[in-house]
Amino acid sequence: MSIEFSGGMADDERIISTRQLSEDEAENSLRPKSLADYIGQAKAKENLMVYIEAAKLRGEPLDHTLLYGPPGLGKTTLAGIIAAEMGVNIRITSGPAIEKAGDLAALLTNLSEDDILFIDEIHRLDRAVEEILYPAMEDFALDIIIGKGPSARSIRIDLPRFTLIGATTRAGQMTNPLRDRFGVMLRLELYSPEELCGIVERSAGILNIPCKREGAFEIARRSRGTPRIANRLLRRVRDFAQVRGTGVIDKQSADLALRALEIDELGLDNIDRTMLTSIIQNYGGGPVGLDTLAATIGEEAITLEDVYEPYLMQIGFLSRTPRGRCVTLQAYRHLHMEPADGQQVL
Ligand code: ADP
Repeated sequence: MSIEFSGGMADDERIISTRQLSEDEAENSLRPKSLADYIGQAKAKENLMVYIEAAKLRGEPLDHTLLYGPPGLGKTTLAGIIAAEMGVNIRITSGPAIEKAGDLAALLTNLSEDDILFIDEIHRLDRAVEEILYPAMEDFALDIIIGKGPSARSIRIDLPRFTLIGATTRAGQMTNPLRDRFGVMLRLELYSPEELCGIVERSAGILNIPCKREGAFEIARRSRGTPRIANRLLRRVRDFAQVRGTGVIDKQSADLALRALEIDELGLDNIDRTMLTSIIQNYGGGPVGLDTLAATIGEEAITLEDVYEPYLMQIGFLSRTPRGRCVTLQAYRHLHMEPADGQQVL
């Protein structure tokens, strides 16, 4: 038997999308403002505290810092916190927003001493733009070519000492010269349910949502290790609790709401289940190549890799082998399916 998929649901339509959706605009009020309020990511936080302290002691800006990890884990938030802890201004832009070398030159020349320039999705910078960054990061200088042809000459403009903070979901896609120019590289990991529970309780407090610990935990363990999803589910569950229940988020009302949203006990939605079922039914459980899989379920390979896979791999439902993706026995069990007779399953 095979199943057909007529174009996948765009990631933006998923309640458990890790991208920032318009309904997440309230996110800003939920962003922690200091390292002390930033829950989880103990390793990254600990290192960062040392670097910030050391830079302050020397009276220098922080080294250029690269934050990488799946979307919605708190990279932008952390950049804001670094600026606050260093007591400096932050300017925020993104790789695709900087179209021409001149755009970046303008941004750089407008910085003040010690400012932070935050470039989200830095792996998407245009190559010509990227080259402007090399001398800027290394020597705090801008090399500008004046004129054309044989009479062209290069002049160097000094820039204020600044810190570049880059964020990316795919450090592997960055060029080596750019990656090598970051003195600090911090990898953000998916959060544990306990950490996410702390985040949900904190957000409920800020948004004045009555929420019991078990309710917060129920949301947390179904949020795919991602604070952005946890905060979004909190708001959705509140709607259900207010309309269908007593207004208080407890285990029961959270479970009811999440079921209505078709998010299962592990945080998987229809698309995750479709993806796993597709590997099982069309490719005998795998291995199947990323591009083939993407075409089968009508999603982009990049989206599969950045958004769907990290969590499915973290919970041990999907494994990546040199020959492609394989569904694990655990995933079969979760979907109430059985491997075919004699089939090898990890
Ligand atoms: P990214 O830049 O990695 O996509 P963001 O920094 O925009 O992620 O974080 C998404 C949302 O998740 C933020 O609005 C913030 O409220 C919340 N968040 C992220 N990390 C944390 C954390 N460690 N503690 C509390 N809230 C967090």
